[in-house]
Amino acid sequence: MAYTKKSSGQARSRNSSEGQGRPGGRPGGRFRRGGPIRRKVCRFCADKFEVDYKNIGSLRTFVTENGKILSGRATGTCAKHQRVLDTAIKRARMLAMLPFAVK
Ligand SMILES: [Zn+2]
Repeated sequence: MAYTKKSSGQARSRNSSEGQGRPGGRPGGRFRRGGPIRRKVCRFCADKFEVDYKNIGSLRTFVTENGKILSGRATGTCAKHQRVLDTAIKRARMLAMLPFAVK
């Protein structure tokens, strides 16, 4: 059992005269205000119900109070269903079941 003393051979010899090119180091974070990002699932994929322009009750959840169509990012709808939904809302508008715009 040979016990050797800790040799202090870790002398930092690197001398950085100037800081490396990194202007304004920003701490990257994946957190928003209000907690971590929760992943939404497309409601049409999850519940497996079809988009129907006659079903105003469900269409209204994808439209703002002003009558605007919410983006798929906001509602979590996938691209495929967002496209169908978009057509359905526009169709419902033509039938005066949904407003075009509310002021
Ligand atoms: Zn979907």
